[in-house]
Amino acid sequence: MTTPTAELLVAETHRSCRVLGPGDRYGLWVQGCPLRCAGCVSPQWLPSTGGERVAVDALAREILEFAVDGLTVSGGEPFAQAAGLVALIHQIRDDRDLSVCCYTGYTLEGLRRGDPAQRELLGLVDLLIDGPYVSSRHAPLRWRASTNQRLHVLSDRHLDVLAEPDDPAGLQIEIGPGGDVQWLGVPHTPGFREALAGAAGLVEARDRR
Ligand code: SF4
Repeated sequence: MTTPTAELLVAETHRSCRVLGPGDRYGLWVQGCPLRCAGCVSPQWLPSTGGERVAVDALAREILEFAVDGLTVSGGEPFAQAAGLVALIHQIRDDRDLSVCCYTGYTLEGLRRGDPAQRELLGLVDLLIDGPYVSSRHAPLRWRASTNQRLHVLSDRHLDVLAEPDDPAGLQIEIGPGGDVQWLGVPHTPGFREALAGAAGLVEARDRR
């Protein structure tokens, strides 16, 4: 990925997400992933040719205006745009010390051996959910969907998370202005997305890993 540090390739944003990390968070899904996991739940966000190029400055202002408890970054693969996300988080934290939760298809151990930008991004993340979704290991877990995915508390900010039950956070379902159904979160059961789309004529969906 060759995204300049002043821009990010963005797939989706959501100003208030309550099911992907602690509290009420701004959701940012980046476009593009170099991995090709079997059964990837967001294939539309794999190519680096889609999405929208967004200036880090503008995105930081938007997040500062709407984020309540923190920022959650997913995708696509956030660590494929590590330099841009480092710039974004620094810009946000110059103003507010917001919590950052990040999903990745890589492992924590692999990222610790990553390039300098990836290691710098890792140093800015409070909560990391690592590993790709593996459908054969599907399980009802907090903010995750398969047993290979681990929740790492990387700072002092969310130590309480470790003492809390590892239960699913549920789904956030909304009706858009055009009457379309949108949902965020980690489904409890495999195939939920297809089932809901078939049952409700789903127009737009946002799910994670
Ligand atoms: S599951 Fe995640 S890491 Fe794997 S291909 Fe899909 S977006 Fe990339």
